[in-house]
Amino acid sequence: MGIVIAIDGVVGAGKSTTARLLAQRLGYRHLDTGAMYRALTLAALRQQVAPVAGAALETLLGQLRIDLEPNGRVRLDGEDVSEAIRQPQISRAVGAYADLPLVRLAMVEEQQRLGAAGGVVAEGRDMASVVFPRAELKVRLVADLEERVRRRFRELSAKGVHTSLEQVRADIRRRDQQDLERDYGASGPPAGVLEVDTTGLSIEEQVARLAALARQRGA
Ligand code: C5P
Repeated sequence: MGIVIAIDGVVGAGKSTTARLLAQRLGYRHLDTGAMYRALTLAALRQQVAPVAGAALETLLGQLRIDLEPNGRVRLDGEDVSEAIRQPQISRAVGAYADLPLVRLAMVEEQQRLGAAGGVVAEGRDMASVVFPRAELKVRLVADLEERVRRRFRELSAKGVHTSLEQVRADIRRRDQQDLERDYGASGPPAGVLEVDTTGLSIEEQVARLAALARQRGA
């Protein structure tokens, strides 16, 4: 048992790291929904299924098995794809798949199933608005653009992904824009979401702040 914590936020605000560490700290599961969309995208690119609604994509969605392991590894039909799904070409392609109502429907249903028992830190842009509107704690993480660029660059470099600050900045700007234009199927802005500005906060401070909020709400 436990509460549901929904974490949304802008690209590069530290959602993933914060959600992962918060889950560890509370003994909760980390529901990394971005990893699910990324794994689907990897599968689609490998099988040359285009991002258009149709039989091919429907079949893929029906057959796909994505496992989010407690240790944070991501498996696609049993194969560890944790690194493969973080490559820039996946980041560039994922939006086209994630935009399709057919894809969102399947993903949201699976995410709600995974979070039904509580004790979960669910991370992703539609968590508070669509997937878990009744979550006990709903947080939106924000941060300045340049801080986000530096964080993302460090993160990618640490993973051995070769890129540049300019490339990362362009990617983040493009994804910010896409997020603004994107309709996640929400009927309006979600209620009761706390905005936390993480500019200048260390990851530890970010996690501590959220853990305190979670405890106030029964975690
Ligand atoms: O968080 P992450 O960068 O891994 O997410 C990858 C992409 O998956 C996002 O840019 C977005 O296009 C999509 N996504 C989504 N809804 C979510 C999580 C991710 O559309 N809940």
